[in-house]
Amino acid sequence: MPIEPERRDMRKLLRAPTGAVDLAAIEPKSTPGLPDEADDDPKSWAREQVTAIGEHLSELQERLYAESKGGGRRRFLLVLQAMDCGGKDGTVRKVAGTMNPQGLRVVAFGAPTQSELKHPFLWRIRRALPSAGLIGVFNRSHYEDVLIVKVHGLVPANVLAARYDEINRFEAEQAREGLTILKVMLHISRNEQAKRLASRLADPTKRWKYNPADLAERARWDDYHAAYETALARCNSDDAPWYVVPADRKWYRDWAVANLLWETLDDLEPHYPKPDFDPSEELRKLAATT
Ligand code: AMP
Ligand code: MG
Repeated sequence: MPIEPERRDMRKLLRAPTGAVDLAAIEPKSTPGLPDEADDDPKSWAREQVTAIGEHLSELQERLYAESKGGGRRRFLLVLQAMDCGGKDGTVRKVAGTMNPQGLRVVAFGAPTQSELKHPFLWRIRRALPSAGLIGVFNRSHYEDVLIVKVHGLVPANVLAARYDEINRFEAEQAREGLTILKVMLHISRNEQAKRLASRLADPTKRWKYNPADLAERARWDDYHAAYETALARCNSDDAPWYVVPADRKWYRDWAVANLLWETLDDLEPHYPKPDFDPSEELRKLAATT
């Protein structure tokens, strides 16, 4: 018999603190909110739950899409940020993958191209936003413009400093235009990153994901964490809240993100549109054709 997952309150547990953020105080191996019933075999328990939550996500996504066909303007965006090997791709596959691909818009952001660099940093982001009825997933995002860009000093300090407020204004403007934004930092430990990089190198089918430059970024771990702490502290509005998901355990990561999505989408209560025709009248007409 399929299990019926319980709706929880993971948003409360995982919301980034208001004010200063100290990532060192969040244990990447921890599993906040995991119930006692998972104790025997947490991995299998969490996997089953994700499948079951996925049924709800699918239905909610369809309702959001249907709502847009009735003229609704609402849309949704999941932003995923993490250090290399943090599990962004896995989360897209395992969690977003429970939904109908037709209702998703998944976009990955790499280093901007020469032509993208001619525009303000939010230009390519705006173009990638989901349209009405869709669920967007950003694998990296405009936050790279205050993360890697800060760590490597790619723009002058005053330009960088202005970006936090620009991001807040952008997200607030989008929220007013019907976008629900859920931002998730997948939080892995330095050790876990080393393990995952090693397994990328050891496995010929994973080597394509490795880039020798990843080691140079890894060497800047503390700088990256400091940049994350600033971004999480400065851009954590109720319009676009940040959540920090401990991500050393992949099964916990997927379960936590699935719950965050479910809670947020469920609260939207997307509704099927009222038909602008009379179904019984149509049925009568249909019968007349057979
Ligand atoms: P990957 O996600 O492994 O394909 O790597 C993409 C790379 O692009 C990462 O090193 C990101 O930090 C980098 N990247 C993404 N957005 C930006 C940006 N706005 N400016 C500079 N580098 C970026
Ligand atoms: Mg990479």
